[in-house]
Amino acid sequence: MATPVYDILIIGSGPAGATSARFAAKMGLKVLLIDKRQELGAPIQCSGAVSRHALEEAGVEPNAEFIHEDIYGFSIYNQEGKSTVIDYREIKPDEYGTGDERKPLGYVVDRRRFDRYLMTQAERAGVEVWLKTEGLGYTPGKDGSCEVQLRRFNRLLKVKAKVLVGADGLQSQAGKWANLRTHIPLRNLASCLQFIVDGVETNGLLEIITGHRWAPGGYAWVFPKGNGYTEIGLGVVRTMTNRDAQWHLDQFIQKSFFKERFKNARILEIQGGGVPLAAPLRTQYADNLILVGDAARHVNPITGGGIHTALSGGRIAGEFLAELIQSGKKTDKANLKSYQDRWLDASGHKIWQLYGEKTAIFRNKDIPLRDEQLYQTMSGYFSPDSSYKKI
Ligand SMILES: Cc1cc2nc3c(=O)[nH]c(=O)nc-3n(C[C@H](O)[C@H](O)[C@H](O)COP(=O)(O)OP(=O)(O)OC[C@H]3O[C@@H](n4cnc5c(N)ncnc54)[C@H](O)[C@@H]3O)c2cc1C
Repeated sequence: MATPVYDILIIGSGPAGATSARFAAKMGLKVLLIDKRQELGAPIQCSGAVSRHALEEAGVEPNAEFIHEDIYGFSIYNQEGKSTVIDYREIKPDEYGTGDERKPLGYVVDRRRFDRYLMTQAERAGVEVWLKTEGLGYTPGKDGSCEVQLRRFNRLLKVKAKVLVGADGLQSQAGKWANLRTHIPLRNLASCLQFIVDGVETNGLLEIITGHRWAPGGYAWVFPKGNGYTEIGLGVVRTMTNRDAQWHLDQFIQKSFFKERFKNARILEIQGGGVPLAAPLRTQYADNLILVGDAARHVNPITGGGIHTALSGGRIAGEFLAELIQSGKKTDKANLKSYQDRWLDASGHKIWQLYGEKTAIFRNKDIPLRDEQLYQTMSGYFSPDSSYKKI
């Protein structure tokens, strides 16, 4: 059988990969999108909070198919329970809220349905999608394209593409195949655990609880999940505690200022995963290869949010590759560097700035002072006049 040839092959159909694929195909490229999973987004490893702006920017219509609950703002708590409430229903009542002309600030989405929705939108734009297909390696060739080794169901096969897009998430292998420096130091990795519970009330806000006592190196959260369900979770950095995330989550539920509120919580589901609170990769490209989303550490290093950055980075990647390939230029690393430059100009420089702020806070050995700085930084980050509002 002749080797199939594509303009781009994308490994990973999360928000980054599916968005790169959709934009590239819309601009006329021949795109293959693969994912090793047989059911996208499962098991769920995400709380699903995303702003409306992030969806709009990536051309994704908010849709009941994937939305669990509308969000109208934030409540940021310090360790003792003092809070800063930023409720857009009160700050800008004409713009945010329920009612004909008003809209929510964001959503909590179901990642299983959201990822499938994004993949379907990509397919409808002309992308070919192969599920249960794992990327195993890539070899740049002399003809200007690369050969990608895949396992589809149990069959090994090769595909050729001008560019391989590594959108393969936190544990990305694509960058390693190109010898890029992808290692994340343990101090920049949060282990997260969340319970989906019944019996805990919420009011349309994302609640974020800071403080070393509850979540060393990270924070705890209480997010509305729709239909009266709630997500209670936290992320901790293992260089800052001898205990695991489960121990900390139990402490938070049983001993924090929310213990009365949580006393009737019944656990329906348990989800977990890693979040890179890391700097973006310094080099996100190689010959015939670019990285996007978690694979490139396109993540907000303070909040750990990575859906928005995956969507926006995916759009940049898809549009950039379409322009480059249609211009007939080589897809070598010299030309692919402009992808990273474009991403840095759009949001990367701000992510680097946030990484600097996060590092300065957690370098501080004075824990009460550090706690106060994190509380103030988080409160400032989510305030309406934050310079980081759109990340
Ligand atoms: C507990 C938790 C809660 C979170 N909550 C939020 C939140 O509320 N809001 C937010 O913005 N972010 C949140 N995040 C972060 C967010 O989930 C990620 O940043 C986001 O999913 C990154 O998208 P991505 O497309 O880069 O990667 P992913 O969503 O990880 O997608 C990568 C895809 O690649 C596939 N893949 C991997 N390797 C291969 C291979 N070799 N071959 C084929 N396919 C492969 C995987 O199957 C997967 O489908 C959370 C993370 C965790 C762990």
